[in-house]
Order: sequence, then C-alpha cells, then structure tokens
Amino acid sequence: MYYNYTMDLLKKFLNILFPIHCVNCLQKYETHLCNTCLEKIPFEIKNKRSDIFFAFSYKNPIVKKAIWNLKFYNKKDIAYTLSRKAFDVLLDEMQDLQLFNNLEKPVLIPVPLHTKRLKERGFNQSELIAFGIYSRNPSLFNIDTKHIIRNRYTIPQAKIQNKNERIANISKCFSITNKDFFKNKNIIIIDDVTTTGATIFELKNILIQNGARSVYGFTLAQ
Ligand SMILES: [Zn+2]
Repeated sequence: MYYNYTMDLLKKFLNILFPIHCVNCLQKYETHLCNTCLEKIPFEIKNKRSDIFFAFSYKNPIVKKAIWNLKFYNKKDIAYTLSRKAFDVLLDEMQDLQLFNNLEKPVLIPVPLHTKRLKERGFNQSELIAFGIYSRNPSLFNIDTKHIIRNRYTIPQAKIQNKNERIANISKCFSITNKDFFKNKNIIIIDDVTTTGATIFELKNILIQNGARSVYGFTLAQ
C-alpha cells in the first residue's frame, strides 16, 4: 500500500513537471490519447478477411499518429486506450465464430519480439495490446507470453514493401518452447498493425503444426 501511495504521489508530481498532451489534439490530459479523439476514431468493418480481424483503419490519421507514438515515442498508455475500444470488434468476431462455445477459453498470444528488439524498445506493444483486451473481461480469455519466442532478429516488416520479401523476412522466425501447450487450443494472435499478414500467417503455421485447433489474428489496425 505504501508503495502504491508513493507511486501515486510521484505520478502526480511528474505530471505537473511534465504534463501529458494528447498526441492528436495536443490538449493537456491524463493520457496520450484523450476521450474526445478516441471517440472520433471509426471502427473499420469493411475489407474483412477470413482469419485476420482488425478494429481500425491505419489510414485514419488519429490511428496512425497514436500507433506511431505508442511504438516509437514510448506512449505505452495508448496501447491500453486503443485496445479497450478494439475489444468490442474482437468480441463480435469471436461470437460469430462461436469460439466461446468450446469449453476452453481462447488464448491471446501477442506477437513476440526478439530479446534484442525488446531491449531497444523497452516493451512489447503487442503484449500491451493483448493485456488491454484481456483487462476488459478476464473471464473470456487466457493470455500467454511464454510458450512461443522469436529466435531471429529481423528488419521491421514495415520497412519492406514487397509481399514475398516480407514472407521471407519472417520465415522460421518463431519457435515453440512447449509443444503440448497449444494442443486443441483456440488461439488469437495479437499485433498492432497488419498489412500483408505475413507475421500472423507465419505464427499461425507453427501453431497449427503444434496442434492448435484454430488460429486467428487480431490487430488494432490494417
Ligand atoms: Zn485529443
């Protein structure tokens, strides 16, 4: 309790010294994406794929600004804000797929980062998004960050334009630490943005090879 109280005071103090501004409207708020701007973001329900779902369009300037600031300017709370809104889309999709009809809860798996990249960035944005979704209703999902790892340091997919080069870049990038863990599980891979889907498909393949019952992808934006 003492610890939390001290942290609270420290946070308030830091907020006076370094006030937080919304990355879109630049007004002073307690978070880096204010409610007014969040409400302006429309859900993207067109262009559905069969196995990768997403909540927003990356063409939306607020979404683009928010995700950019999350990943490259350390504005971690944005992951929480966006993913809690995106949850509604995921829930709709999962109900359509009747994933909740199985006895076992679907497992959220954030796309793992290589340890070197994790050190550079200091956090895994996909993990923050997965925990944001999970926090909306922890009774619906399990979450796993241990049983699949990234074994190869790669160029960020966003820096490669060509689809085949993206597939090659991510190929054999992941490995599984416990073969039995994924057996018969319904899995939802979580990432921030998808473009060609190469990362999610690579993960999907390895999960299916290891006995997963179904594998879907869910990202904040496409
Ligand atoms: Zn704002």
